[in-house]
Amino acid sequence: MVVGILALQGDYSLHSKILDDNNVENILVRDPRQLNSVNGLIIPGGESTVILKLLNKFNFIPALDDFSKKKFIYGTCAGAIIMSSRANYEMKTLDYIKIESCRNFWGSQINSFIDNVNINFIDKPFKGYFIRAPKFKILDKKLDVLALYKDNPVLIRNNRHLVSSFHPEMTCDFSIHNYFIGMIKNEI
Ligand code: GLN
Repeated sequence: MVVGILALQGDYSLHSKILDDNNVENILVRDPRQLNSVNGLIIPGGESTVILKLLNKFNFIPALDDFSKKKFIYGTCAGAIIMSSRANYEMKTLDYIKIESCRNFWGSQINSFIDNVNINFIDKPFKGYFIRAPKFKILDKKLDVLALYKDNPVLIRNNRHLVSSFHPEMTCDFSIHNYFIGMIKNEI
């Protein structure tokens, strides 16, 4: 099992590090053809408008759309915004998960914060790093909300796709990445 990490912009190297530290084979994905050799993909945080521009520029979208129908994708923060059905901004998101993203809902960079988040598959609080994080609105009641923060869904999944508004790659806690790997392994 190999996990790809989209490495066009953003904090892809921290995802690679936490996977390396936990002995999960991973590759940085910079060319759409690499999608053929991974079982799941992480779209990291960064700047969603920039990542989307680069996805278009490098002609990733058709291959990624195809990938999304068969394989697993986890988007953190900007990655989650890109995977949303829509966002509160002029941008054509990919509609892999039926949520609407309200960008920078928790404030700008200077308002970044860390707080405990209760995740429904972990028995202790998870340190959530919120950095210009989006607020998600659920557009389909069938989605699984795996964590709420102050009544807002912050970790959500559908069959193949997982999104979080916060950044688990900034912690040493492997629980959420491990959950994503479990989603992939269940299918393989
Ligand atoms: N606010 C950023 C955006 O809209 C996301 C920030 C992040 O990924 N930490 O793209």
